Amino acid sequence: MANTTESSNPNLSNDEWCTEINNGAAFGLKIKKKLATKQSDFQLVEIYETEEFGNLMMLDGCTMVSTRENFLYHEMMSHPALFTHKNPKNVVIIGGGDCGTLKEVLRHPNVETVHQIDIDKVVTEMSELYFPELCESNDDPRAIIKFDDGIKFMAEAKDNSIDIIIVDSTDPVGPGEGLFNHAFYRNCLRALRSDGIFVQQSESPLLHLPLLKEMRDAMLDVGFSDLQHVNFPQMIYPSGWWSSTLAKKSGAFEEFRKEDADKAALQWQLNYYNSDIHVGATALPNFLKRAFV
Ligand code: SAM
Repeated sequence: MANTTESSNPNLSNDEWCTEINNGAAFGLKIKKKLATKQSDFQLVEIYETEEFGNLMMLDGCTMVSTRENFLYHEMMSHPALFTHKNPKNVVIIGGGDCGTLKEVLRHPNVETVHQIDIDKVVTEMSELYFPELCESNDDPRAIIKFDDGIKFMAEAKDNSIDIIIVDSTDPVGPGEGLFNHAFYRNCLRALRSDGIFVQQSESPLLHLPLLKEMRDAMLDVGFSDLQHVNFPQMIYPSGWWSSTLAKKSGAFEEFRKEDADKAALQWQLNYYNSDIHVGATALPNFLKRAFV
């Protein structure tokens, strides 16, 4: 996604807005000041303090996470799959360097291990400094945080060893590109246990439908048996409408654990996810029904 920190509105000075331009649209957040910037071996990591959204992380000019609204994404990238699986014990997160998804997965008491494999330790270092609330579970003894290429990690993962894989990565460009292809999906399928679930952030249904379809077709090509599309709002990403795609290693998606989901949503004081949201998020608008036949 192209980015410019120049304001898209000529009468705003460059240093007032952090704007991302994508698919002929622009999204901007009014900023107070730039807090940090670091070129890692993989991407440019920038942190801004914004007027209304707390801190904002950009990777290579793309909005990644803000203090105010990241709960939408992190809750919806984790709980739908974890409450669909009967009893998830071993979870792997590919990417997720801001640690928000890790925090949500660790809320599940039956989960025994969560491996977080992000290629770039600078993202986690910056998140620990500027998004400490996302990193508060990093010391959980069940959390195993490694900095490595997720492609390599899945290629080396043992057969039938994982219950849920969550790919919380950047877009399919740069280091993220190899997380959206047949070879990667084949390794994830192999590594999942027979009732395992694969989850991947699948971009915007409105702006990126061809890519979304390609991802789905590739997952089915390699042998995933059933797919489930999950819609959710994500204001700082292009179009504000984001999604994840769930894929089952075998069999069809069944009913999720509704009572557990509602009990947890209350107990954990979740801000977005509950069983009604789960049902609504997996409902398809007509244009997606037509596209997914
Ligand atoms: N919520 C964001 C989104 O939907 O675009 C993703 C957030 S997370 C910070 C994205 C992470 O993916 C980054 O930290 C990046 O370093 C990581 N990443 C990209 N390619 C990767 C790869 N091949 N292996 C592991 N992590 C990767």
